[in-house]
Amino acid sequence: MTTRKFPWSAPEDGKASPADVRGFFGKISGRNVPAADSAAPISFNASSKQALLLLQNFEESGRGWFWSTDGEGKITYLSPSVSELVGRPLTAIIGSSFAELFCQGEEAASHQRTLPFILTKQSKFDDLPLQAAANGEDEIWWAVSGRPYFNEGKQFAGYRGSGTDITAQRRTAKDTSRLATYDSLTGLLNRFRMSQLLDTTLTAFRVQKRACSVMLIDLDRFKHVNDTLGHPAGDALLKQVADRLVKVVGDREKISRLGGDEFQIILQDVDDRGALGDLAERIIKSLSHPYSVDGSRCIIGASVGVAVSPFDGQSSEDLIRNADLALYAAKGGGRGRFRFYSSELLQAAEDRRVLEEDLRDALGKNEIWMAYQPVVDAKTDVVTGFEALIRWNHPERGAISPAVFIPIAEEANLIGALGEWALHKACEQAAGWPGRMKVAVNVSPIQFANDMLPKIVESALASSGLPPELLELEITEGVFLQETADTDSMFKALKKIGVRLALDDFGTGYSSLGYLKTAPFDKIKIDQSFVRGATEPESRNGAIIAAIVALAHALDMDTTAEGIESLDQLDLIRELNVSHVQGYVYSQPVANDVLLERCQSGDWRITPSGPAVTRGDRLSMFRKIGAIHENHCYNVVLRNLSVTGALIEGIVDVPKGTKFVLDFGDGQLAVSSVVRSMGHQQGLVFEERLVNDGNGGLCTSRRISPYMMAAAGMPIANLPPGYYTTAEGEQRPKSLPAFSTMGDWKAA
Ligand code: C2E
Ligand code: MG
Ligand code: MG
Repeated sequence: MTTRKFPWSAPEDGKASPADVRGFFGKISGRNVPAADSAAPISFNASSKQALLLLQNFEESGRGWFWSTDGEGKITYLSPSVSELVGRPLTAIIGSSFAELFCQGEEAASHQRTLPFILTKQSKFDDLPLQAAANGEDEIWWAVSGRPYFNEGKQFAGYRGSGTDITAQRRTAKDTSRLATYDSLTGLLNRFRMSQLLDTTLTAFRVQKRACSVMLIDLDRFKHVNDTLGHPAGDALLKQVADRLVKVVGDREKISRLGGDEFQIILQDVDDRGALGDLAERIIKSLSHPYSVDGSRCIIGASVGVAVSPFDGQSSEDLIRNADLALYAAKGGGRGRFRFYSSELLQAAEDRRVLEEDLRDALGKNEIWMAYQPVVDAKTDVVTGFEALIRWNHPERGAISPAVFIPIAEEANLIGALGEWALHKACEQAAGWPGRMKVAVNVSPIQFANDMLPKIVESALASSGLPPELLELEITEGVFLQETADTDSMFKALKKIGVRLALDDFGTGYSSLGYLKTAPFDKIKIDQSFVRGATEPESRNGAIIAAIVALAHALDMDTTAEGIESLDQLDLIRELNVSHVQGYVYSQPVANDVLLERCQSGDWRITPSGPAVTRGDRLSMFRKIGAIHENHCYNVVLRNLSVTGALIEGIVDVPKGTKFVLDFGDGQLAVSSVVRSMGHQQGLVFEERLVNDGNGGLCTSRRISPYMMAAAGMPIANLPPGYYTTAEGEQRPKSLPAFSTMGDWKAA
């Protein structure tokens, strides 16, 4: 049996300092027992024996422990409970160094004195957090206090002290600090921590003139999962989303969940919009793959908004607000997209609001009409039917694409009325066509989710007298995103009426062959982008189209290839045995009276015509930009733009090989040289390719930093937003043009 020796009892003389005893007692009991005059030793009378017993009981309860060392820091006493906890026998502990038995943990390294140092100071210490040096799996923490004691010659004789277990408190504190840093659901950083991180990053980067990008990600249709599968399933889905994000981004500490289904990524020193666009695309792709949650399959999508500091804001508020605007635009652009912030976005949001207002009145004002695009038998070139495509002639803006106004109609709750009108109009006009030409009408997923759709279809057929088998409804994969029992019964109800069903835009969305097996489609429409890719070298799209055609054949479905523009695409599509073709290679959509005229003879055979091969997309436009030559900036009109070059108009007789820096605004400069010169127009080739801007447009990969502008003498605050380089500032030296401009040319 071990002899118990209490440190304060100094049993050699049978005296204990009342200060020691009361001090310990106060600490242990949590009460503040004032220390009496420590100079007067007391004899070991009955009441101090009583106190010792109490302390012994306390020690045995395991809630606190005592220790003492000699002048060299060697342990002279330790409560047995600690020896058990550290897993070393007391005999081995007594005589060993106190500083070696305990340690302070990593976090103390930066802001606490080391334990050996503290022990040499010979002054008291309180509540020093310590753990066993040989720390096992379960980390135990103690708050340790000590008082030096001195021998009669007033020489330092060692320490006496106590310890209490603070493991539980520390765990709670750690959890609390975790809560302040991490999102409890996904383990990603939380909004609070992310905003701190962004603030400190931007503050530091402003000084260091470094770039930093912010990506905001919002899940599409997440609400639907929550509503149909329940919140626990929604939570499980969010965890999977977080895992996928970590995988794509590669660094957990860059990603946060802001709350709900919104995530944010900070990318330090990244301003290359080519790289940012690629990353955004990879994120969207990864998050759009199907998920399995509690045995249910669900599909969501994601939209991404990107803003880059310093161009799009130098404070975290500005940067986040602009990333948010970009995100909103990405969602408005049809979801499943990314968008970079640009100064036009604010204007675009306003435009959209005005368009929505105008759309409310468009039907009543007869601004809406239907165009029809021939669907042609690929083998015979004979038109078998038409796709009805809605058109809007805006009184001020002219023709507005349905790709623009259908999403607005869907969001503004106007699609029901518009869709119903389109269905009635198309049936009515198709009933007047010769022969047995079919008409295909597009049905938005929102219309499809309306129980009244079968009634609306029946009414359109009844009032027009069109046989149901001549009406085809085109449905996109969007309807399967909300796959429920209702989807099935809607398919059944429509089939019962006798209309045909086509799966539109196959290859753009979630393209699961599973839909084809279960849903009663009569036709698959292979999307334009898919066919386009197929003619590119090394594309596997051709093989996939062949597989789709084989499957469609086996399931007794027709196939239509959409958007065929060139003869090489048509050849490929014929080779792959696609049964029908729709595209400019045969005809653009035409008005009903044109259609009637062409079909006068009863049928309409079209000879395909178009470019021999597909060429890289050139965007036609009419946009004012700057063209800088030497130190002069010309105002020119950009007529078309591709990733590799542009056609500009406005400067006259420029020799081939002349170098221009095109200024597209927003710090976007592209170095280019003239390869063709035709009077007032020049064809230019860029030194560096442009990149996709996420919105069907193009942008330069990098922008000239406002910091560089500032270095050239222009204070950042003075730079007008969106047009840093050609701003008319006092610092700009007057320059002389080397070439005459179109104005001079016309005058001459
Ligand atoms: P969609 O159903 O995939 O229609 C095909 C689109 O491709 C049409 O665009 C058509 O004009 C275009 N197109 C056809 N051939 C070519 C080609 O060779 N090259 C190119 N570049 N394009 C070609 P449009 O008319 O602008 O319609 C866009 C989308 O708007 C349609 O895509 C459809 O989803 C929607 N939409 C059109 N009309 C209606 C409607 O009445 N109701 C609903 N809900 N949506 C409609
Ligand atoms: Mg369609
Ligand atoms: Mg389509």
